[in-house]
Amino acid sequence: MINTLHDLDLYGSLVLTRVDFNVPMDENGKITDDTRIRESIPTIKYIIDNRGIPVIISHLGRPNGKVNMKYSLAPVAKRLEELMGEPVHFATDCIGAGAEDVVHQRHFGEIALLENLRFHPEEEANDPEFAARIAELGELYINDAFGTCHRAHASTVELANIYVTEKAVGFLLEKELKYLGEALENPERPFVAILGGSKVSGKIDVIRQLLTKCDTILIGGGMMFTFYKAMGLEIGNSLIEEDRVSLAAELIAEAKQLGVTLLLPTDVVVADSFSNDATFKTVSIERIEAGWIGMDIGEKTCEQFNSIITSAKTVVWNGPMGVFEMPNFESGTRSVAKAMVRATEAGAITIIGGGDSAAAIHKFNLEKQVSHVSTGGGASLEFLEGKILPGVKALEVLTRSTYSFSNNLDNE
Ligand code: AMP
Repeated sequence: MINTLHDLDLYGSLVLTRVDFNVPMDENGKITDDTRIRESIPTIKYIIDNRGIPVIISHLGRPNGKVNMKYSLAPVAKRLEELMGEPVHFATDCIGAGAEDVVHQRHFGEIALLENLRFHPEEEANDPEFAARIAELGELYINDAFGTCHRAHASTVELANIYVTEKAVGFLLEKELKYLGEALENPERPFVAILGGSKVSGKIDVIRQLLTKCDTILIGGGMMFTFYKAMGLEIGNSLIEEDRVSLAAELIAEAKQLGVTLLLPTDVVVADSFSNDATFKTVSIERIEAGWIGMDIGEKTCEQFNSIITSAKTVVWNGPMGVFEMPNFESGTRSVAKAMVRATEAGAITIIGGGDSAAAIHKFNLEKQVSHVSTGGGASLEFLEGKILPGVKALEVLTRSTYSFSNNLDNE
């Protein structure tokens, strides 16, 4: 069982709140996108409204276990203060006297934000002693950082383990688990998955898992050419993973065996170089000439994908359909994004896995018109692979029935 915020009595408690404030910054330390800060506000507000005192912890960037002011959370404290309209008291360390002074002087309605967890190598080493030192700063533990739940770090695993029952998911993590969890466990059908991105190698386990859950899988992006190669087609200079060609053939056979439609594009936009300024044209997939590079799915494919997506009741999308960062090759990805919106309007549950497909839907300003855009790229991919995320597992509260179940096992 996992608690939600509503299950905890927050009154008068210091609430250690693990968020994902890993925001992009420019070279002057100016935050260029504060979405992640904004998204954590409902949880922080709820804690304050229920008379708890949020003690916020996060990582930022990759300081490699050393203090490096380039990765300080101080600018985030300032931005959070502006967004909340409440003072945010910043501690220059996340453990020890520096943190304790700031935390223990807090009153109702105030917020403490501790310095970057990753200034200590023990964070990424999932060190229990480091976790115990953080735990000295809070009576309750909330995890609202989905993007780091696939990593067994001190602030996501060992820290959560210290709390037996006084722990919960924040609103953002709760939403992630609800959408991704229900899509995999109990999808309304037809259930369609759209998979793209650069390489098939990064998505093998997702494809395998989704083959057992979905009715249809649509494939686009650079990975489609490895499938074409497996089908004996000429792919010119398109992206190819030679060592995955036989695997692509296996996946096609697996889909057939399971009765899942694995659909590949019928036409493709090809270019004479990997550049937005290249000469380009749309050809059917049997007509990719030597020297040309597949950059996007073609118009006919867009139409076909659109009709399948808009007839679905559950849609999960992970990975762009083409090199969407280049305006000349963004059409396929834009078309799928629009189809997701239409499906949502028709009542389907539409979910965008994080990473590049989330970046794409933001680029097209359509993020508010789908059911859910995941905040974690790697985490959502591992979730879709069917893996149990260590940060989520650590939030589980053992109930009486789980105790007796494990006792039974011990006795066997
Ligand atoms: P991934 O991280 O595997 O989801 O891949 C995302 C990247 O795949 C994006 O940066 C796209 O530009 C890239 N991509 C999509 N389609 C293609 C393609 N046909 N050729 C090369 N790269 C592609």
